[in-house]
Order: sequence, then C-alpha cells, then structure tokens
Amino acid sequence: MFPATHDTGLIPTVTERTQEMLLTSFTVEFSNADCCRNEGQSLRCFARLDQNVSEALPYLNAILGGYTYIKEPPLLTFHYSKGKLITVDADSIAINCVKNPIEAREILAWLQQEINTVWEKRQEITPKYTAAPWPKPANILRLLPKTDCGQCGQPTCIAFATLAASGDKGAEHCPALSSEAQKELATHLSRFHFDV
Ligand code: SF4
Repeated sequence: MFPATHDTGLIPTVTERTQEMLLTSFTVEFSNADCCRNEGQSLRCFARLDQNVSEALPYLNAILGGYTYIKEPPLLTFHYSKGKLITVDADSIAINCVKNPIEAREILAWLQQEINTVWEKRQEITPKYTAAPWPKPANILRLLPKTDCGQCGQPTCIAFATLAASGDKGAEHCPALSSEAQKELATHLSRFHFDV
C-alpha cells in the first residue's frame, strides 16, 4: 500500500488562479500482471480514489477519446502508451502493464491533473457519452499483403492486424507493403485515436 501522490505540480503562484480540484487524494495498490505483451511491464496498478469523479468522466472521455465508455455507472477505458489500458470509474483507476511503481505514480499524477483540468474547464467541453470509433482487425487485414511472410516478426498477417488494431503496430512495421499500400494503411489507421 502506498500513500497518495500529491506531487501534481499544482502549487499556484501569485499570478495563477488556484485550480478547482475534484480529485485530491488516492491510495495505490499493486499486483502482478501476467497478461502483458510487453516485456518488463509486469505490474497492475489499482488506485482507490478518495473523491467520486463520476461527473468528470464524460468530459475526460471527450478529451482522451475512450476506447470504451459506459454511461451508467460511468466507466471509461482508454489506451495509454506501450500497450497499457487505463480504466477509470467513479472511485478507482486501474492501469495494466506498468513497469514499476514509479511509472505508475507518474501516470496517476498525469491522470489526476487531466481529471482536475477537465473538471475545471467543463463549461468549455462538450461531454461525450459514447466510445471513440475503433479499428477492426478485419479491415486492417484487407489492406495487408496476406502472405504471412513473417518479416514483421508476427507469425501471420492476422496477428499483425490484431496488434495494429490496438495501436501496437503501424503501417511502417510491415516491410512487405508497397509504399502506396503503406500510405493507404497509414491513412486508415490515422482515423483512429490510439494512445494518449
Ligand atoms: S510483414 Fe506484412 S505481409 Fe508479412 S506477415 Fe507481417 S503483416 Fe503480413
């Protein structure tokens, strides 16, 4: 069990307005995660929030582009870099596949800042109650050579398409694509919002 992270860089100067803080404290727990695809990211982080942030979630969804969004009870999941999924609900934040507690604390401090910022600026943000569009592996597969040549390090094009659909691979990772086909796949993938 770790104490809450309070080092959010929010100390106001005389010329700054104090931010309206919704989330001020939380406690953090870690457990082992054996589901991570990326080496060296073997911890799952769970933060229990001391404040209820449910009202901020549609605003956070609008800014971060949720992979899934459930309206009632509100729950938002989005992709973070290096294959991480972050889930936020009314009183918790779960992060899969973190390297160590330091990385988890950095992500939590960033997310605390994001939650407090969207809450403060909610009058300027249109809340969003649906998930962002997400790529389908089948549509990506159609744009691949489908030769299962293995040059990308994956056993099949389907395996590659699955990774590309979660943002872990891009068009540039398939060396078998012609430059025109690579551009077409890159254009397709650019319509989606992967990591924040
Ligand atoms: S390099 Fe491209 S064509 Fe070859 S297996 Fe990977 S995705 Fe398929």
